[in-house]
Parts: sequence; structure tokens; C-alpha cells
Amino acid sequence: MAKLYFRYGAMNSGKSTALLQAAFNYEERGHRVVLAKPAVDTKGDREIISRLGVTREVDFTISPDAAVREVFEQHRVRSGKVDRAGRDVSCLLIDEAQFLTSEQVDDLLRIALLDGIPVLAYGIRTDFQTVAFPGSRRLLEVSHSLEELKTICRCGRKAIFNGRRIGGRYVFDGDQVAIDTSAGPVDGAEVEVEYESLCGVCYLQESGGVLNGRH
Ligand SMILES: [Zn+2]
Repeated sequence: MAKLYFRYGAMNSGKSTALLQAAFNYEERGHRVVLAKPAVDTKGDREIISRLGVTREVDFTISPDAAVREVFEQHRVRSGKVDRAGRDVSCLLIDEAQFLTSEQVDDLLRIALLDGIPVLAYGIRTDFQTVAFPGSRRLLEVSHSLEELKTICRCGRKAIFNGRRIGGRYVFDGDQVAIDTSAGPVDGAEVEVEYESLCGVCYLQESGGVLNGRH
């Protein structure tokens, strides 16, 4: 039976690198893989970008209202379903899976169970307020296999949260998704949005004890 796998971690835990490595491992053994990511992730557009400098274009992007199973099936058929060497797709790999909707994650489970194709989803578990992204919440609920990809905080402990800095200052209020730039607090000018993966202790030090917008 094919399974749905969720490999999650904080920012900078090497998720895209792990995804590209998994794709390479499949292909090295002669398998076909399909790569996809949500269209909401503006970073790199159609590219999966690993921090180690390896990049690769996805086979399709997933818009917020897309029926993932249908789009995947169309892609599978368009590319011949079974290629000239007689191979079907061995694996569907999804980057930035936190940005999927709950319904789209259900489709990933259907792809694994009804179409018999393993799905490997990689994503961030929680947002800058320590709240699960919709896609990640559903993946935590229905995946067969959960695997944490670890990274360390500046203090050396395991990082589990993501702090957001705008223009160099930590913020704990705002929209769930903010990538690269945001309207500045003073004059509305664009300022840089950055994230730092933090352990719980360092997160609480920066937030003054606030979790999920509350003391
Ligand atoms: Zn720390």
C-alpha cells in the first residue's frame, strides 16, 4: 500500500534539500518522480530552491482552488502515464506543503490510497505565532508517517518555532503568510521579512511570553 508521508520542520531545516535528495535517489534507481508546490509560495516561483544551492523546476504548481488529484492525474496522463521505458510515476513530492488547503491534503491521501502512488510532503509545521498552517495541520492528522527534520536554534537547542523579523525587529502580530517583503509599519515602504528558527525558550524570550497572540 502506498502511503502519505509528512516530513516537517522549522524554517531552514533543510526540507527542500531533503526533497531534492529524495527525488535524486528515486531517479538514480530508474524511477520517475513528479514534483509540485503550492503557487502561493512566491519564493522562486516554479523552482524548488535548496539552501545548499541546488535548484529544480517543479512539474506543476498548485493554485489555492486546484483539485490536486485531478491536476496530478492530468499531468500523469499528459506525460504518457507510463513512459517509453514502461515506467509509471513512482512518487509525488510536494514542497512547501504547509500552504496547501486541508482539502488538497485529503487529495494527497487519495492519491496514495486510491492511485497507489506514494506522496512525500515537506513543510513547516507552525507559523510565526506557533499555530499550525492549514496544510500542516491536516497532514499531521492524516499522514501515515511523520518525520521531523531537525535544525538547531542559535542557543544550540533544537529549534521548533519560527520567529518573524520585519526590518530586523521581531513581530508577533500579522498575517500568517508573509514572504520576502512586507509594508513597513511607519510609512508603508517595503521592508524585508526574515525568519529565524528558534527553540521554545528563545522564542518566549523574544515574544515576552506571548504564544499564539496571547500571554
Ligand atoms: Zn534557543
